[in-house]
Amino acid sequence: MKGKILGVIGHPIEHSLSPAMHRAALRELGLDYPYDKFDVKPEDLGNFVMGAGENFLGFNVTIPHKVEIIKFLNSLDREAELIGAVNTVKFENNARGFNTDGIGALRALEEAGQPVGGKNILILGAGGAARAISFQLAMEGAQISLCNRTRERAGELAADIDEKLDKSAEILDFPLKEKLDEFDILINTTSVGMFPDTDKSPLSGEILQPDLTVMDIVYNPLETKLLRNARETGCRTIDGIAMLVHQGAESLRIWLNVDAPMEAMKKALLDELG
Ligand code: NAP
Repeated sequence: MKGKILGVIGHPIEHSLSPAMHRAALRELGLDYPYDKFDVKPEDLGNFVMGAGENFLGFNVTIPHKVEIIKFLNSLDREAELIGAVNTVKFENNARGFNTDGIGALRALEEAGQPVGGKNILILGAGGAARAISFQLAMEGAQISLCNRTRERAGELAADIDEKLDKSAEILDFPLKEKLDEFDILINTTSVGMFPDTDKSPLSGEILQPDLTVMDIVYNPLETKLLRNARETGCRTIDGIAMLVHQGAESLRIWLNVDAPMEAMKKALLDELG
């Protein structure tokens, strides 16, 4: 299987949805690549990456390795370099890191008919996913505002965007209290509302307004409390599966230069989530 293995590495890894999604895609494309999950402990990461080029074409990277893996790679593409985190590795002559989370979010918005250029976008959170999405959307010409429980973390992300892209990002206090009149798009990148805490939302539904597009990148449950409140307010809503499928599709394009079968991937994820 020299250079043919695909997979996902993380720790823990047993609940990853990536194998179901990617196996469905590879089956649909008639491509004979195995896609498996690999539980790699932090102390084993370096050895794993350095030995992987022999057998792997590439792999996805998830918690807790997205930042740490960088020091074991030979090169990074522009997005991964800006974001400072990697979710996709490809072995060609050497190990190159990519980040497809931001492009996944962008494609999910575009698919829903929501362009981002020139739009005012409020991002809740300042963790790994927020970094990827903020950089990508700022590069597409969106005006980014950030709101995070730990304000300093939002400040660090804003400073990083300013330094690397020469674009300013406003910081709002968490929790939000004012009506979200000045924004076109709201994206929740916090884990608030994720199973089992499905009765929680990162903001009060009363501050939503119908012109807003609301995207929640939490995908379990598919309709979070935030998305339910948004739907009831009359907002356009985008669930977390959309980003998950698009970031996976982008990984497949990087490894195999193929157009991913989006419907088959989405169906596999929905089946997996029950
Ligand atoms: P992360 O780096 O750990 O960041 C977590 C974020 O959530 C931080 O901003 C954190 O705020 C905030 N947060 C956590 N608990 C909170 C609470 N009780 N109240 C308010 N804020 C809280 O995680 P991540 O990698 O960015 O992932 C975040 C979520 O996105 C996860 O649910 C993950 O499953 C999902 N995700 C989805 C996709 C997709 O394709 N759909 C892709 C990546 C991630 P502090 O800074 O204050 O701690």
